[in-house]
Amino acid sequence: MPRFIFTIINFLLLLLIIYLVGRKMIVNIFRGRKERINQSLDIASQALPEPEEYDPPKPEDDESHKAALEEELAIRKKKLADLKVKFENESETLRRESLLNSRSNLVQLTMDKAREYMKSEEFLQSMKDQEDKVADRILSLIKLTPGDMMYLEKKGKLYVSLFSSYPLKLTTIGRIHQATDKLLEDVGGITSFRIVDDEEGLIGGFRLRIGDTVYDYTVKDRLYMLQEALNDMPIKETTFENMLNKMRKTVDKIKIDVDIFQLGRVLSVSDGICWLDGLADIMYGELVEFLDTPKKMYGMVMDVQPDRIGCMIFGKFQHIETYSRVRRLGRMAETPVGEELLGRVISPTGEPIDGKGRIWSHDTRPIEFAAPAIPDRQPVKVPLETGIKAIDALVPIGRGQRELIIGDRQTGKTSIAVDTIINQKDKDVICIYVAIGQKETTVASIVEQLEKYGAMDYTTVVCSSASDSASLQYIAPFAGTAMGEYFMYKGKDVLIIYDDLSKHAIAYRELSLLLHRPSGREAYPGDIFYLHSRLLERSAKLSDEAGGGSITALPIIETLAGDISAYIPTNVISITDGQIFLESDLFNSGQRPAVNVGLSVSRVGGSAQTKLMKQVASNLRTGLAQYREYASFTQFGADIDEATRKTLATGERMMAVLRQDRFMPIPTWEQALLIYAVSNGAADNYDPGKIRDFEKKLLDWFTSSQKPLCDELKTGMKMSKEVKASLDSALAEFGKLA
Ligand code: ATP
Ligand code: MG
Repeated sequence: MPRFIFTIINFLLLLLIIYLVGRKMIVNIFRGRKERINQSLDIASQALPEPEEYDPPKPEDDESHKAALEEELAIRKKKLADLKVKFENESETLRRESLLNSRSNLVQLTMDKAREYMKSEEFLQSMKDQEDKVADRILSLIKLTPGDMMYLEKKGKLYVSLFSSYPLKLTTIGRIHQATDKLLEDVGGITSFRIVDDEEGLIGGFRLRIGDTVYDYTVKDRLYMLQEALNDMPIKETTFENMLNKMRKTVDKIKIDVDIFQLGRVLSVSDGICWLDGLADIMYGELVEFLDTPKKMYGMVMDVQPDRIGCMIFGKFQHIETYSRVRRLGRMAETPVGEELLGRVISPTGEPIDGKGRIWSHDTRPIEFAAPAIPDRQPVKVPLETGIKAIDALVPIGRGQRELIIGDRQTGKTSIAVDTIINQKDKDVICIYVAIGQKETTVASIVEQLEKYGAMDYTTVVCSSASDSASLQYIAPFAGTAMGEYFMYKGKDVLIIYDDLSKHAIAYRELSLLLHRPSGREAYPGDIFYLHSRLLERSAKLSDEAGGGSITALPIIETLAGDISAYIPTNVISITDGQIFLESDLFNSGQRPAVNVGLSVSRVGGSAQTKLMKQVASNLRTGLAQYREYASFTQFGADIDEATRKTLATGERMMAVLRQDRFMPIPTWEQALLIYAVSNGAADNYDPGKIRDFEKKLLDWFTSSQKPLCDELKTGMKMSKEVKASLDSALAEFGKLA
């Protein structure tokens, strides 16, 4: 029995051992698995993104949500408004185009009808019936012009011709002959009388020509007048009916009277210039029309001599033939002007060359116009900010000033002009960029840049490229100025850039040599000074009584090897109110814009500079002059004392702060802040090469943490002692941060 019990106990013990050992083994096996699973889970959970915590919207979030929605709504509204404007503009253009088309069709139709009617027996008979009356009218009008008198003095006789489409009555011829003989007898001359009585081109009626003056009462002239009147009519009407009414009124307004004009003829044509005969009373700058060309062509009188007239031709002169007729139009050469020209690239005669369609401007101004008189002007007082530190601080420009930009080729002349245009955004200044004799690609890239910076909205580009004729290059700056004057006399501020006047002088020299004018220094004609002075004199600041508008001119002159004492540079320097002199050496050494501070001046701009800038920059010029002096002295490696070293280091930093990239104009108050900071040693810990970092940090820090001080500087007022003190302490604080 005990043995039996002993066996059972043994068995139970065995079972217990097996259980304990087995459990440990199993636990071990599973723990290994579990750890591996856990590891995998860990890895997987790391790879997964953190689940976002759901945050139920709180009341203030609701506000921000609303604000975001409103913002989105505003953006969409603006887009819609833009689209609407675009649509309206396009439909307006379409409407005008269609009106114009219908008008030219109508004019054609009217002309056909008129021609048909005027050729009818009935009409021609009525003209014949009026023969006596017309002869009376003509005889009451005839007189000798100063030109005729001059001719008479020389030749003793004057040609008189009577042209008619049908044989006139003998009595009529006799009366006219007698009257003209009498007219000449009174001044001691005789007539050479000629009758042409089958001139078919006249269709009906007759014309009398005494010397160069024509007294015309023919169907041909009537048709010409009708066509001119209808074609010149501006398209401003809103509907077709209105246009028709206007046309009717225009036709009604044409006076049926003897038309008096002067005729001449072409003696010779070459290189965009022609010599004319006749037109004895014509004046310099007047417009003439070439009558026998397939397309309408115009010219402008450039030279008046006793026996012939020099005239430059707009357009393709190949179409003009010797002995073709020229009509005096009795008005000066004009160019279209107006708001419609903004944002466009046009030729000097006002034709669009940017492929954006017709220019709907109805206003014109003569390209040559007298400059405002002295009582109508006032001194410059409002700054024209270029946004370029080296200019606004040292050679400030005022609205109405003429500041020359002069320098060798590729020294950044154009860049300064373009940056200045870009800086006029939202400043209510209209800009006109006149390109003279430049490559078309250069002009295209300038236009592209202006467009990129949103500057084309207020800019017109007048382009006469190097491939254009000398005549077009010659009138380009005058046309640009006329476009500016339109705004100036309306009381607005205009900035005009002539890029460049050296090429303009060359174009004028070419014209003058072709016109056989005696050449003077450097083969330029003697009146080249007068040419540029009468151009630049038109830029002015008008007095408040005269509207207060202004034209600020930035002419550009290219020098050869920095020679500012050549003929054209000295001329334009003496005409303008100062110059910005750009130097190749500076440009190549990386000092851009390469303004030579010593040779650049602004004679009147100082009074337009903001008080703040004046205060800040007062010591800059002398400081820089001192620096240049020391720098040239020490460049041979002489031992220098501590004070000199310090002046040199500050000077270098000053030069560095005047460097500026293109297309980065900055507001005046920021310029003033930077210059003040650098000249007061705030940048002393910075290497001159690192000044740009300093500028950025300083401006960021000031705009973010010194709002009241910034607002104070923005006023442009002179800093009071307190402001200065708080600016100094702010700079000290900034110095500790760095
Ligand atoms: P041109 O005699 O051919 O008319 P220009 O004197 O008008 O030349 P720009 O065409 O303005 O000179 O500039 C010449 C080159 O210098 C351009 O490539 C322009 O990008 C560069 N440049 C001008 N100003 C700066 C500037 N401030 N910083 C850097 N580069 C500049
Ligand atoms: Mg240039």
